[in-house]
Amino acid sequence: MLSGSCLCGKVKYGISGTVGDIVHCHCKTCRKAHGSAFSSVAAVSNVDFKLLCTESLGCFESSPGKNRYFCSNCGTQIYAKRDGADHVVLRLGSLDDDPKSKEKSHIWIAQKATWYSTKSSLPEYQEFD
Ligand SMILES: [Zn+2]
Ligand SMILES: [Zn+2]
Repeated sequence: MLSGSCLCGKVKYGISGTVGDIVHCHCKTCRKAHGSAFSSVAAVSNVDFKLLCTESLGCFESSPGKNRYFCSNCGTQIYAKRDGADHVVLRLGSLDDDPKSKEKSHIWIAQKATWYSTKSSLPEYQEFD
C-alpha cells in the first residue's frame, strides 16, 4: 500500500495496486493549477485508489467533464478525473512513497512555459536555503 497526502494532512489516500508510467504535462491548465512549469502525473485504477481522509477535498472542473481535486485548506493538487473514466490521474508530488514507476514522456510541449527547457543541464544541489 502506497500512501499520499496533501501538505496540511487533511487529505490522505492509499493506493493498493500499481501506479502507471509517469508523464510530465506542460499544458496551460496544469501550469496554472499547480503554479509550476509542469505537472508530473500517472494513472491509477479507480479500484486501487482509496481516499482515506477527505474533510477538505475540493474540486474544480477545469474543462467540461474533467475535474481537478485538491486540498481546499492548503492547495495541494491530489488527482484529476474525467467523468466515467476507470482511473484517476494522480498528482505524483502528493505521494509519500516511491511509486516505482518509470518516466515515459513530456506532453503538451506546444503549451510549455517559455522559460523552462526540458533539455537543460542546470547545476544541482542536495538542499538549498
Ligand atoms: Zn491540505
Ligand atoms: Zn496538463
